[in-house]
Amino acid sequence: MYYGKVTFKGEVIADSIYPALVDEDTWLAAQANLANDSAGTNTRRYLLSGILKCRYCLSPMKGNPSNQMYRCSTTYGGCGRLSVRIAQADRWIVWAALDWARSSRTTLPAPKRDYKAEEASLRAERAKWQEGYRAGLYTLAEAQGPIRELDAKIKAVAKEAVKSKPRMNAVTKRLLDYQKMNLAQKRAFISEQITDVVVGPALSRGNQPFNPARFEVHYTDGSIVTLSRDLDPEDM
Ligand SMILES: [Zn+2]
Repeated sequence: MYYGKVTFKGEVIADSIYPALVDEDTWLAAQANLANDSAGTNTRRYLLSGILKCRYCLSPMKGNPSNQMYRCSTTYGGCGRLSVRIAQADRWIVWAALDWARSSRTTLPAPKRDYKAEEASLRAERAKWQEGYRAGLYTLAEAQGPIRELDAKIKAVAKEAVKSKPRMNAVTKRLLDYQKMNLAQKRAFISEQITDVVVGPALSRGNQPFNPARFEVHYTDGSIVTLSRDLDPEDM
C-alpha cells in the first residue's frame, strides 16, 4: 500500500492523486460539485452522461439534477426502469478509469536487471584481459579485440541503466493532472479508458453498502470487467 505517493518500481516519483479516492466523504463532496461544473457551452453537465447504458434497453443514461441520479429516461427513448446515484457512479467509474490507466503504466516493459552486477562482471573480465596482457600472457593483438568488445558492452549496460530509471510517462501525467481537469477534459480522459458502462439494477437493499457489481465496465481495449467491492477505491 502506498498512501499519498505514486511509486514506480519501488521508488516514490510523485505525490498521489489517490487520497481523494481514499477519503469517501471528500470524494463524494467533490463529485457532487460536478453537477455545477460548467465548462463551455457544448459540454455535457454530467461526467458519465452517455457513457452509462441501461442494462434493460441499452439506452444512454442521463444525469438528473432534481434527484442527483443518472437515469434511463423515457424522454430520450429509454425504458425508464433504471437509475443510479450520480455520486456513486462517478466515484466508481472514475476509479475504474484511473486504475486502468495506472495498471497500463505499471505493465510497461520493466526489465528486472541488476545493472550494477552486470557492469561489475564485465569490468572484472576486462581487468583479466588487461592483467593478462601486462603479464605477457596475450599479445596486444589478442587482447585488444576482447577489451574493445567489453568496453562497448559496459557502455551499453550503463546506457540501459539510465534508461530504466523511473520517468513520468504520459499516462502518469494524466493521472496527476486528472483533478485539475474541467468536466470536458475529465470526460475525454474517461473515454480514453472506457467505451461504456452497462448499469444493472440495484443489488444492495436497505442500508447495505453500495454494490459496484452493478457496473459492467467496457474498456477501450475490448476487455469487460464487472466491478466488485474487492476492488474498493478505499484500498488504494
Ligand atoms: Zn432502460
